Amino acid sequence: MARFWFGIPLWQRVIAALVLGTVTGMLWGPDAASIKWIGDFFIKSVKMLVVPLIFFSLVSGITAIGDLRKLGAVGGRAMVLFVVTGQIAVWLGLALGTLIKPGEGIDMTGIEMGATPPPSTTTPVDMVLSLVPESPVQVMADAQVLPLIVFAMLIGIGILMAGREGEPLIKIFDAGSVVMQKVTMVVMELTPFGVFALMAWVAGTLGQDALIALAKLVGLNYLGCLIIIFVMYSAMIRFLAKLPVRDFFRGIVDAMAVSYSTASSNATLPVTLRCAERNLGVSNSVASFVVSLGATINMNGTAMYLGLATLFGAQIFGVDLSWGDYFVISILSTLGAVGAAGIPGAGLIMMALVFGAVGVPLETIAFVAGVDRIMDMMRTTTNVSGDAAVATTVAVMTGEIDRAEMISADDV
Ligand code: ASP
Repeated sequence: MARFWFGIPLWQRVIAALVLGTVTGMLWGPDAASIKWIGDFFIKSVKMLVVPLIFFSLVSGITAIGDLRKLGAVGGRAMVLFVVTGQIAVWLGLALGTLIKPGEGIDMTGIEMGATPPPSTTTPVDMVLSLVPESPVQVMADAQVLPLIVFAMLIGIGILMAGREGEPLIKIFDAGSVVMQKVTMVVMELTPFGVFALMAWVAGTLGQDALIALAKLVGLNYLGCLIIIFVMYSAMIRFLAKLPVRDFFRGIVDAMAVSYSTASSNATLPVTLRCAERNLGVSNSVASFVVSLGATINMNGTAMYLGLATLFGAQIFGVDLSWGDYFVISILSTLGAVGAAGIPGAGLIMMALVFGAVGVPLETIAFVAGVDRIMDMMRTTTNVSGDAAVATTVAVMTGEIDRAEMISADDV
């Protein structure tokens, strides 16, 4: 039995769990929520890895890059790709919302709204301030990813600057990073069970009425995300990285399935890292650096959705938007996507930031809250695929990829 189970590649077990979980949820209905705890157990187990994994692998990734000039080259290229793809994503959302007008003709009477989440009070200045950890220990205890990344990057840079005297620490961080990868492999074996339970819960508990009223928005969210993944990322892999697109997607199937079912880039981080290194042949240093950074700041699915949802809100409440408003939306959606934590529902909260600036009523948030999860799943898959695409492209640009590894993606 065990031999049969482990004989099936993990990604195939995960996909099977995804399909079976959805069918089970549809047949079982709201009571499927009774097995959600299995999914929560899985998410908790993966989340447990995030802080030590980021800390060890980011520091070891930076020290493995070897010198500060090369670090700048890798980081600079990743940032350019993050910003350019983020802007394309927002404008795609705005274009879809303008052309297809998902919010027109919706009768708002008789539609039950979810609870409005408290509006985000984060200003751009707060965002900048929150980058600096007041206490690194506190940041780790609270699992605040962005300041943790800043701290880990500074430690890595400090070790490089220390030269020979810093070498013992390089060994320690390398060892820690390898150990964390092994722990990840063990925890990953829970994935099929977690994915099954989460899919059953989502499929069983989704409010049907809200879904029908919001079908257009949900459909456009999926369409936008699919365009980003299969057109924008494919083009990036094909023309910038010059690698076979099919092998790329084959290599990240695990990360896509886990991100879809957990709706959390952070919870998927260990899986994304493993896919980038093991299946795509991205060097450990580039993968650790770019993927960890990307999981927090590179959220193209979220950026696209924020643009789209703002137009949706404006349409259902009859708010006229000017071209100037479109620019405000594009800037704030990008900032909102950077500031959104890689956790479920983060994009929903960031809507308040964009809506407030262009006068779209915050009630829109309550209206879409009921179906946010199903859209969040697709946004997160887009975000995570983007991290892998950027890591792969940067690895190719800086000669940090092992092509033989990628081609063997067939036997993952
Ligand atoms: N859940 C998403 C993520 O973790 C963020 C969002 O809500 O859009 O990537």
